[in-house]
Amino acid sequence: MSDFPGVLRVGDLDVTVSVSDRRKSVRLTVERDASVTAAVPPQVSRAELTKLVEAKRSWLYGKLAEKRDLGEAPPEREFVSGEGFLYLGRSHRLRVVDSGEVRLIRGRLELARGGGAKELVDWYRRVGARWLTRRIRPWTARMGAEPAGLRVRPLGYRWGSCSPDGQVNIHWATMQLPPSLIDYVLVHELAHLHRADHGAEFWRIVERALPGHEDHRERLRRTGNDLWLPEKGR
Ligand SMILES: [Zn+2]
Repeated sequence: MSDFPGVLRVGDLDVTVSVSDRRKSVRLTVERDASVTAAVPPQVSRAELTKLVEAKRSWLYGKLAEKRDLGEAPPEREFVSGEGFLYLGRSHRLRVVDSGEVRLIRGRLELARGGGAKELVDWYRRVGARWLTRRIRPWTARMGAEPAGLRVRPLGYRWGSCSPDGQVNIHWATMQLPPSLIDYVLVHELAHLHRADHGAEFWRIVERALPGHEDHRERLRRTGNDLWLPEKGR
């Protein structure tokens, strides 16, 4: 047990581990601040705990999503002129116009009167599909990973996912991030085309493609909570 780090990383989750002589089984807790802790009996190995966290993954993500909903959720947006929406890391003010499709023009995001979350989410998906399809190209070349396709859609609590047939999915909300962080999301999913798990080799592939990826991960974690994620867009 002495090899246990204070923090165990399992996939996209960081689990703060404490060892307790009195415990007979592992207790996983999602804390109020949306951090994850594990209280483990001394005989549990690192590999066993990793397996257990992996098995509990969807439960943990569900709990994390709840905390986010209840606790530190960013304020709801209003669909009125002047409201700010992020695109590629920059805030753009909304301008409500009489009619037309959502569009970004001269730094303003135009939305037809009566429109709301659905129209804006559709816009993020539309521009995201175009922008990401271009953006991913140099990464696919560099990493020798060619996705079968790229889709931009709601993915709940995840930034991206990848299906066994090589399809890469990116959450539309990712389009609010600055390009350097979007790159991390793309690199992460492309690395999964080589390695499905989050083992050491997976992180080596990520690091080779994007040196200093730890820093990106950390920034993504901090920025992620500030993004607009309306209920219907999850
Ligand atoms: Zn992953």
